[in-house]
Amino acid sequence: MVYRRRSELTPEELEAARARGRAQKRRWYDEHYRPGSTVRKRARAAAIAARRAEKAAAKEVARKALAARVAANAAARLERTPLLQRAWRAANPDYMREYGRAWRQLNAEKERARKRRRKQAKRVGIRDRLFKLQRGRCAYCRKKLVVGEVHLDHVVPLALGGVDKFSNLQLACAPCNQAKHAKAPEAFAREKGMLV
Ligand SMILES: [Zn+2]
Repeated sequence: MVYRRRSELTPEELEAARARGRAQKRRWYDEHYRPGSTVRKRARAAAIAARRAEKAAAKEVARKALAARVAANAAARLERTPLLQRAWRAANPDYMREYGRAWRQLNAEKERARKRRRKQAKRVGIRDRLFKLQRGRCAYCRKKLVVGEVHLDHVVPLALGGVDKFSNLQLACAPCNQAKHAKAPEAFAREKGMLV
């Protein structure tokens, strides 16, 4: 292709060249800046994938740390057990299983406390999940929740047969939670002007 000066082009050629330039600019804009453009889409997909991978990696690290702690505890327990006893226990797994079951039956109170602690640990996760789900706002008045003053609230109160599960839990601010008490959800929501 022979390049010529602009001044050497005929008016038609000049216009055609300008049109080509405009089309090229538009293509470039569409590709890079138009909402939903391929470049944007690709960048978003990559960001989402990276976030997911990061989360999965963090989860894996936490899982490994927990497994290591459990193993260390078991090892420490074993360390405290006299050698002969250790050998006898290893040789009698059925007896040990039965022994554990009997112990838990005899120590129901301790066992309940252990389960409570476990549940409490789980609840921290539930709070975080609900906080994200509700975008940090009270389920009733929609005001921003203040960390430390957040109440875990049963949608259908336990007293009215609600279950103690994630599906029946929500976060509420202190005033709303205290105003609700054990009222039926419809009655309370109506009071708040949420239902007709
Ligand atoms: Zn509220």
